[in-house]
Amino acid sequence: MSKRIALLGFSIECNRFAPVATEHDFAAKTLLHGSAIMDDARAAAPRMLAELPGFVAAMDTAGPWTPVPIALAMAEPNGPVESGFFRRFIADLQTRLAAAGPVDGVYCVMHGAGLVEHDDDPEGTIQTLVRHIVGPNVPIVATYDLHGNISDADIDTIDGFIGYRTNPHMDMRACGTEAAHLLTRLLAGTKTHIAKIRLPIVPPTVTMLTGLDAHHRPYGELIDLGQARMREAPYDGVVLNVSVMGGFAFADTPFNGLTAVVTATDAAAARGLAMELAQAGWDRRTRFHPSLTSLPDAIALARSAGHAGKPALVFADVADNPGGGGRGNTMFLLEALHSAGITGALVGVINDPELAAEAHSLGEGARFTARFNRVSVSAFSKPFHAPAIIRRLHPGPVTGRRGIFAGNRVDLGPSVALDLDGITVVVISNRVQCADPVFFEAFGLDIAAARVVHVKSRGHFRGGFDEFFAHDQVIEVDTPGLTSPLLHHFAWQHLPRPVVPLDPHVVWNPS
Ligand SMILES: [Zn+2]
Repeated sequence: MSKRIALLGFSIECNRFAPVATEHDFAAKTLLHGSAIMDDARAAAPRMLAELPGFVAAMDTAGPWTPVPIALAMAEPNGPVESGFFRRFIADLQTRLAAAGPVDGVYCVMHGAGLVEHDDDPEGTIQTLVRHIVGPNVPIVATYDLHGNISDADIDTIDGFIGYRTNPHMDMRACGTEAAHLLTRLLAGTKTHIAKIRLPIVPPTVTMLTGLDAHHRPYGELIDLGQARMREAPYDGVVLNVSVMGGFAFADTPFNGLTAVVTATDAAAARGLAMELAQAGWDRRTRFHPSLTSLPDAIALARSAGHAGKPALVFADVADNPGGGGRGNTMFLLEALHSAGITGALVGVINDPELAAEAHSLGEGARFTARFNRVSVSAFSKPFHAPAIIRRLHPGPVTGRRGIFAGNRVDLGPSVALDLDGITVVVISNRVQCADPVFFEAFGLDIAAARVVHVKSRGHFRGGFDEFFAHDQVIEVDTPGLTSPLLHHFAWQHLPRPVVPLDPHVVWNPS
């Protein structure tokens, strides 16, 4: 008889310092129940992230199975989730999972850095509920973003844990595929143990890249080490997954910290390899300190970029990353470029629904004063205005071309490309990080011809813009914002202290 597999998920990265996320924010991305989950998972261009489509495709390939789709909520990174919505979501999940009757296995699509107004561990809350409903003997496998902060409940309630291994996250689909393979093995009778060891290190976002990035290698080295060691004695054939979770500092939870998580058929092996990785992480602790370029230095670089043999540059606005809860509308970098008279720059994507709506009412070719942040004013999102020409309007829906959104349907909302005295600014209405070249190309803009490209993204733009910019053309600029990698700018309330890189004297006791 084909196995009945429950499918569910809750995926949001929450910045404690950002505004509350509501049901509307989930509905704008992915808020699905029952069969609608399968429809999107099997769509040519899904709205959901790629783990579940990868899982479903792998299960389909492996043979007959019966999906039991329950509930899936995904939203763009934001502040803590409104508690009323979360209560309704888990009540619905509980009702549907109980009504579905006995299942043979469960796949949970998680992020791990979720917060609810009165719950710092919504993933643990959901998995505890799921375990309670399905009972102790039904295997549960979960995938997590490597920015997840891992609590005891995240681990103790499941049988297999899979974290992303790439940042930018190019392996979401592969992790879903791996989850299908692991769950299939568990359904055949394999029993597992999961070990977790957390370090007093809260890595700033920009120190957590993977791949061939010489300046940001400490984290990538740990990922690579875990993958190499699991294929060697005594772990070969015993360890089923190694995940090194960097976590998300801005969630500000008591269980923040770089965490090694190992799933194995042998408890001692799981513990042994987790300890090896924790020690390797601790040995690298002095390297988890960010190094950014000051705004004046960035503007000086912009003056010569793309001239006289100097390469074009991409400026990463790392402190206003919508992919970390930033609002995508701070003006520090745009204002500095504009007042310096820089031309040939592309800036995007700025989230400003009021400005986009005004441009749509005026029409292409119109000249007006572009007034940014007339509504969304905060300590970081300050007003700015400049004379502008409306170059191109766009209704919003695009299909991702390259990077983390490749193949996904993304709706930017009513959008516009504006010319501000030689700087082209793309303004959108649905907050999203600028991770895909299509966010410029949809407006007929030529990225290769730009001298400077300023992106509202911390690091995922690297997976989309790497065909235009090599690593040494990327400048991470220091501006104020909700996602500044300079962690001493924030009033932490819940992080374990002392902790690297915030405190001078941090000790780790491996026992
Ligand atoms: Zn992430």
